Amino acid sequence: MSGFCKVHFLDYFEKKVEDTISRFGLLDKDDRVCVAVSGGKDSVVLLYLLNKFGYDVSALAIDEGIEGYRSETLDFLRVFCSSYGVPLVIKSFKDETGRDLDDMPSHGSMCNACGTFRRFMLNKYSQGFDKVATGHNLDDEAQAVLMNLFKAQLDLFDRQGPITRESDGFTRKIKPLYYLREKEILAFAFLKGFDVPFVECPFARLSFRSKVRDFINSAEVINPGVKDNIISTFLDLKISNDSPVVTGTCEVCSFPSEGNICRACRLKETF
Ligand code: SF4
Repeated sequence: MSGFCKVHFLDYFEKKVEDTISRFGLLDKDDRVCVAVSGGKDSVVLLYLLNKFGYDVSALAIDEGIEGYRSETLDFLRVFCSSYGVPLVIKSFKDETGRDLDDMPSHGSMCNACGTFRRFMLNKYSQGFDKVATGHNLDDEAQAVLMNLFKAQLDLFDRQGPITRESDGFTRKIKPLYYLREKEILAFAFLKGFDVPFVECPFARLSFRSKVRDFINSAEVINPGVKDNIISTFLDLKISNDSPVVTGTCEVCSFPSEGNICRACRLKETF
């Protein structure tokens, strides 16, 4: 990245996204794509590029209900989407569950409830689209691999990788920024002049992810290439161990679930 001038860096970046899309068959040209947007740099860059590449994109934002955090990014998204002519839908935890995240019981970490409801709502409100695209990057994915290893949650590996498999009731999830590093996405957003607000969730510092991120970043300093190695090893293992996804249906909401009642509905019962 350091050897590029502005023009060549932008070109390298776009080509890497196009290569990822084509290498893993993430999109067909006539796919209707729901882009999950937070208003942060990753999802904004993703939305910009998929729109630029000519895909039929719509944006979906989830308002978790975290005071002092989400409103600034939603304001930015309204302006950004309108200037590129992309439809934007905003759904909130409050409307979905009756509560803002701030008012939910933490059960040890707010991120568990946040992630569970966000995944549930992304799937629910992307029904009818061919794919749901998220802005996960190489750093995010390396963190997720180690987090699941450290917590012995190998079943969650199924959510990782550049594309999820077809499964009844789930919109396939794709990650076109899979091979780009966080700092590269930051540089792209800066060079394109995207005035993305930098607001950190107040719960982020307390999260397990932030500890794993610090750990990997330290390891990368000592041994450059650690993040790439985590991802390539994970993909090799995943490809050689892929087996069909087995899911049933939640008795409460009728969306896919491994048990009789899905995680989102079980969490709602604790309110
Ligand atoms: Fe949600 Fe945790 Fe991310 Fe905050 S840091 S937005 S609580 S997952």
